[in-house]
Amino acid sequence: MADSGSDGVPGSSGKFRGTLTWREEPQYEEARVGRVFNSRRPQRFPRAVLFAESVEDVIAGVRLAHEHNLTISVRSGGHSWDAWSVRDGSLLFDFGRMREMSYDSQSGVATVSPSITGGELNSCLDPFGMFFPGGHCPDVGLGGFLLQGGMGWNTRGWGWACERIAAVDLVTAEGKLMHADERENPDLFWAVRGSGPGFFAIVVRFYLRPRPKALTRSTFVYPMEAYDQVMHWLHGIHQSLDSSVELVTIGLQLPIPGDAESAMRHSLVVHTLCFADTPEVARAALAPMESCPALAQALVRDICVPTSLQEEYEEQRRQNPAGDRFAADNLWLSGPAKHMVPMLKPCFESLPTARTFALWYSMAPLRPLLTWRCLCSRKFTSRCTPSGPIRHTMPVAAHGSTIR
Ligand SMILES: Cc1cc2nc3c(=O)[nH]c(=O)nc-3n(C[C@H](O)[C@H](O)[C@H](O)COP(=O)(O)OP(=O)(O)OC[C@H]3O[C@@H](n4cnc5c(N)ncnc54)[C@H](O)[C@@H]3O)c2cc1C
Repeated sequence: MADSGSDGVPGSSGKFRGTLTWREEPQYEEARVGRVFNSRRPQRFPRAVLFAESVEDVIAGVRLAHEHNLTISVRSGGHSWDAWSVRDGSLLFDFGRMREMSYDSQSGVATVSPSITGGELNSCLDPFGMFFPGGHCPDVGLGGFLLQGGMGWNTRGWGWACERIAAVDLVTAEGKLMHADERENPDLFWAVRGSGPGFFAIVVRFYLRPRPKALTRSTFVYPMEAYDQVMHWLHGIHQSLDSSVELVTIGLQLPIPGDAESAMRHSLVVHTLCFADTPEVARAALAPMESCPALAQALVRDICVPTSLQEEYEEQRRQNPAGDRFAADNLWLSGPAKHMVPMLKPCFESLPTARTFALWYSMAPLRPLLTWRCLCSRKFTSRCTPSGPIRHTMPVAAHGSTIR
């Protein structure tokens, strides 16, 4: 039976270093959605929100959820577009106040709390000349991002960000703290890399393997009229681009420098980032981007420009400003260019608002991925066996709008 606080809401706040807020309390609304990035607020209402400040808080919170027969939901960075963390009748664990972050240059392992963002981790790694492929938007939390795979910087060449998880610490549904890596609890370690919001435990700490960094970009802006030429050409070359190159194409309204015709032009941006160690290697890797048959029509040509993660983050922030209300549609597509290019064209051409953008992110070429077939027993203490390499990849298109 739950105890009752003096103000009529269930008690238990005294068990935590952090803050527990029940639905009846005045600060509840801020606790419920104050850390949700998308300003479209869901009509879902957790029973209470726990701002945990320690692993002990998380364990005590799981016990409290059992006592009150509550389901559990978790928020790390709050960047789920649909605010998955906000679930009816749950005890919502918010990690916003757990802020551990360090890098050990001896072992090459970074240790982070799940609420740490890709941008924050990279600020910490920068003095060591290291880099972690977190979300392109610097404010995305590593927790939700890594659990759902993580399409970070240069996923095309390096694979999913979750492939760079060395280990995790987690709290199970029984309230038990466990460590999981390749050898210790390998079934949990398998599940943490891709379960997304379906993961059945709470991750309290990630151990990550960053990589050395160097960045060069080539960026071309074409008028949207060149769409067919540019996209057919890209589908012809993206399979063979060097694996150090990330390729994204964006349809949006842009002011073109020196363009007297109009303030904004409906444009097609072809943006490539090369993560090679020397300028010479980057130049060679980016050279194919100058072979576009529509090159003469390009409104902007920035070729092999040294850049930094900070500059790239600034651009992402400009395109995805905090405080806006977002709606997003996604497509996961595969097929020959003669089908794909016309199929995507309406997404790029018919941007419904001046702030809408469409993007196509190349995942080619097909890369072998070790997949695991999980022979599950009733509990998740199962054996996992490798079932060999599979082929995976696909171009991805997304269409996003912000709604004021
Ligand atoms: C502007 C913007 C840019 C983005 N860019 C990218 C990108 O470049 N690449 C990409 O792959 N994705 C990107 N995303 C999507 C983003 O990765 C996902 O929405 C991700 O879930 C966000 O993680 P979070 O921790 O911030 O979110 P949250 O809303 O905090 O978490 C999402 C869900 O993950 C689960 N979860 C989170 N933390 C834990 C935990 N510690 N233990 C157990 N479960 C947990 C919960 O089910 C939670 O509801 C972007 C999103 C936005 C809004």
